[in-house]
Amino acid sequence: MVATPIGNLGDLSARAGQTLREVAAICAEDTRRTRTLLAHLGIDTPTLPLHEHNEEAMAARLVARLAAGESLALVSDAGTPLVSDPGFRLVRAARQAGIRVSPVPGPSALVAALSAAGLPSDRFVFEGFLPAKAAARRERLAALAGESRTLIFYESAHRIVESLADLRAAFGDARRAVLARELTKLFETVLDGSLSALQAAVEADADQRKGEFVLLVEGAGEDAGAVLAEGRRVYALLSAHLPPSSAARLAAEITGAPRKALYRVGTD
Ligand code: SAM
Repeated sequence: MVATPIGNLGDLSARAGQTLREVAAICAEDTRRTRTLLAHLGIDTPTLPLHEHNEEAMAARLVARLAAGESLALVSDAGTPLVSDPGFRLVRAARQAGIRVSPVPGPSALVAALSAAGLPSDRFVFEGFLPAKAAARRERLAALAGESRTLIFYESAHRIVESLADLRAAFGDARRAVLARELTKLFETVLDGSLSALQAAVEADADQRKGEFVLLVEGAGEDAGAVLAEGRRVYALLSAHLPPSSAARLAAEITGAPRKALYRVGTD
């Protein structure tokens, strides 16, 4: 399992280079992209496509090659394989077949972002990408509003504005957050502030909506957690007599909890 750079090619480790040179073949999410990286490194090891659409079918063939004594590498387009990237099924199949699976660690956007964010890092949750559909995304965020650990999300340029707005609605204006953009690349920026300040910064500057993003949000402190719990208790009482939207609005007004975090009472 070979980690590759998330932008800056200087981040490829010596051992990653050596491994990619020595294996019989390199399984790659996008063989064209990987061949560009290999050309840059002067490596001509053959590549094989392994992506989410063929992984199930390829796993058995690759395990047979490994069982026959071949050594294979797996890389993704960028960063560490399996982290919001293909490979889990192959690794599981290989391990079940008694084949040694060994990591060649290196860059991953989530760890890079966490290391530069200045948010509590002793405990954190990686949520990967939020759901693409607005309703599912809001439901997921409502379920996470009381989470006390630092939250880490991956996000793409075309959804960053909506996701920030939904985060703000679910977690409240004041929750601290960090937006890490284009890490290790020319236009790297790491913005920190309240969710409302970050949303305003991204809406005001089109450049801040370009590229690749890791979004980190500080966990709910004890106070925020207690306010949310109280908001949900009041919502549960009111919703027995009122429509959900009125119950949530009133419970939010009474307790100060973010309104959108109240709808999922009793389900998480
Ligand atoms: N396997 C990769 C890793 O270890 O980080 C992640 C792959 S995932 C398909 C791609 C997402 O990772 C992007 O949409 C973005 O959220 C994040 N990402 C990758 N490179 C990044 C970078 N240089 N700066 C910020 N985020 C990045």
